Order: sequence, then C-alpha cells, then structure tokens
Amino acid sequence: MIQSLHSFDLKDKRILIRVDFNVPLDNGRVTDDFRLQASLPTIQHCLQQGAAVVLMSHLGRPKGKVDEKLSLIPVGETLADMLEMPIKFSEDCISEDARNTSLGISPGEIHLLENLRFYDGETLNDPQFAMILAKHGEVFINEAFGTAHRAHASNVGVVDHFKQTGIGFLMEQELKYLKESFDHPLRPITLILGGAKIESKLSLIRRFLNKADTIIIGGGMSFTFLKAQGREVGGSLINEKMLFTATQILNEAKHQKVKLVLPFDFVCAKDAKSQPDAVYSRRELPEDLMGLDIGPKSIENFKDIIFSSKTIVWNGPMGVFEQEPYAAGTKAIAEKLVEATTSGQTTVVGGGDTAAAIRAYGYHHDVTHVSTGGGASLELLSGETLPAFSALESK
Ligand code: ADP
Ligand code: MG
Repeated sequence: MIQSLHSFDLKDKRILIRVDFNVPLDNGRVTDDFRLQASLPTIQHCLQQGAAVVLMSHLGRPKGKVDEKLSLIPVGETLADMLEMPIKFSEDCISEDARNTSLGISPGEIHLLENLRFYDGETLNDPQFAMILAKHGEVFINEAFGTAHRAHASNVGVVDHFKQTGIGFLMEQELKYLKESFDHPLRPITLILGGAKIESKLSLIRRFLNKADTIIIGGGMSFTFLKAQGREVGGSLINEKMLFTATQILNEAKHQKVKLVLPFDFVCAKDAKSQPDAVYSRRELPEDLMGLDIGPKSIENFKDIIFSSKTIVWNGPMGVFEQEPYAAGTKAIAEKLVEATTSGQTTVVGGGDTAAAIRAYGYHHDVTHVSTGGGASLELLSGETLPAFSALESK
C-alpha cells in the first residue's frame, strides 16, 4: 500500500522529498513556476508539522555532467520568495558537505540539493548513488509526478533504503484523477485527443476504446484518420506509417460501439507561420494548404459532446495553438471544459502542451484536474503501471 503524507508523524523528522522542479528557465530566471506552486502544499505541510525538509530534483538534461545553466539555484531563489523564507542550498547532491547540511538543518528549515542529473547515477538508477541520496532523510516522500514513468535513483532506487515512504499531496491528486477516477467513472465518458503524434497516444486510444462512449480526435492527428477513411487532406500533417493502425482503430471503434468523432472543418493556410487562408470543409481540403486548427462547425459539435458527457479527459491541442490564428479550437475546448466543471462534470487535462495551453488561458484552477506530467500522465491514463508507484507499493 502506498502511504499518504497524512499518515506520517513528521514531528522532528528529516523528510527527503523528490520534487519535480523541472521548470522552464530563461537566462537564469524561472519563466513558469507552476510545478513549484504545485509542490507547495506538501512542503508547507511538512514544515508546519515540525519536520526538516530536504528537497531534490532534476532540471533539464545535463546528461551526467555539471552544467551551470541547469543549476537549481534560480529555482531555490524563486521557491524562497514564494515561501517567504530562506532556503539552504548545496552545490551538489551527494557530497559529504551536502549530507552534513541535511543533518544540520532544524525543524521548519529547507535544504535544496543541486540538480540530480549532474550525475549519470540518477537516470541509470545506480544503487550506490541511490544509497548516498537516501542518507539525506529519514522519511522519503515522492512528489515528482513528471518522472513517475521512469525508474531513476531518486524515485525508485532510494526507496529500499527507507522504512517510511510515501507520496505527497500532488501525487495523490494525480493518482486520484488519472487512475482511480476511471475505476468507477461517471458515464458518458468522452476522450478528446489532439496534438501531433499518434504513436505517442496509441495505448491511450486503445484503452479508451474499452472505456469511453465517445472519442473525439482533433489536431494534427485527425488527418491520418481522415486519410484512412479515404479522404484527401491536402498538405496537412500525415503519418503514413500510422494509416493502417488508424484504420484498425476506426474498425475497433465500430466494433466496440464507441463513437469516434473527427472534425468537419479546418482553418487552413500554407503553413503555420502564414496567415489563415480560409475555413474549409473536410470534403474539400485544398491540395496546397494545411489544416492548422479545427473550424467553427467542429468546435460546436465538440462542445455539444462535452455538454452531454459526465467525465471528460482531454489530451492534445486542437490546432497549432502556439500561433494565435490557430489557437481558437484549443481555447474553445478549454472554455467548454471550464463550463462543464462548473456544472459538476469531471474534467481531467493531461499532456505537456495541453496543460501549458490551459495555463496560458488562466483556466487551470477551473477544471477538475490539470496533470503536472506529460509522458507520465499519458502512461497513467493508459492504465500502465508506473515504476515510481510500483516501487512504493512493494514496500
Ligand atoms: P501534449 O503535449 O499535450 O500531449 P502533443 O505534444 O501531442 O500534445 O501535441 C502538441 C503539438 O501538436 C503542438 O505543438 C501543436 O502545434 C501540434 N499540432 C496541433 N494541431 C496541429 C495541426 N493541425 N498541424 C500540425 N501540428 C499540430
Ligand atoms: Mg507535447
């Protein structure tokens, strides 16, 4: 059984928390602090309960070498501002100095370790590296959902070295909404899929063919399905290698009596950097143009489906939302999900780009759950067992 943070007596204990502080940086400044925000309830709870807190995280991909540009120093500064308290920082995660700092901090204090991935041992899940990391605390709490689908030293290797292990509040939320809410879901269930790469979402589609009542496929992915139906899609994004798989999925949906809904119309242009040409029906997509966003008819149709669903999962933008002229479809879905949430429907948003979009629109607190993971949220939604949870379960 995985223990919840609530179940521990934390007073006077040293808690080693694996957090996900893998935040975007620009010139040494944190440009989006959502992952820091998301970890605050767990950190604050530990401090309030009279624990000393040691935090460890990775940042970017330094590939086992020290890279000053990927130092956690700016992250520590931002966190100190948010918590309005000083934070001790070690320029290394496994040195004796770092360990002594962890041993020396008092209840109510925080010690942040430098980027775990400055060492290969982290991603290789090296036992020696894990053992040294584990010396930083007496209780281990995993709160890093973004890496839960990887077996690394800081989330899997360390577990063996602790008697007391568990997950933080954020991890609990992720499990609740991406996993447990599908054990006995309220129906009808709608899965809204978009984005560019079908291959990264195949297991999600396959699982929901057995679970959902409706699967909406928008975004760049939809053209491979339209083409599999024998339509012409002009210059739109196509994955030739996935045509056969798309046909199989269309057949399987019929067989399972799952409604698989594709867009009726698209906003088209020469490319994503050009201004839109016009909206075209899917029956008449011009040969020299690309579909870059879903059109108004599709938006209305998708909104109606959302309205009549009880549980909605959304992964993947409806268009090239990074460019303003092609953001309308993605924004409309986000708005409709907010409305659905207000009227009591369960709305779960996963995927790195989708979560970034909903945060950019400022709606991330207005849906039931926005996952902090990209790959991890896809895998958990797909019903897969994630190494970080298995390690804690087998304790
Ligand atoms: P997520 O990270 O939420 O899982 P993906 O990574 O699968 O989402 O997809 C996001 C990408 O899909 C975005 O960069 C977006 O520009 C692209 N995309 C969406 N619609 C289209 C389209 N019609 N043509 C090309 N690219 C698209
Ligand atoms: Mg993505």
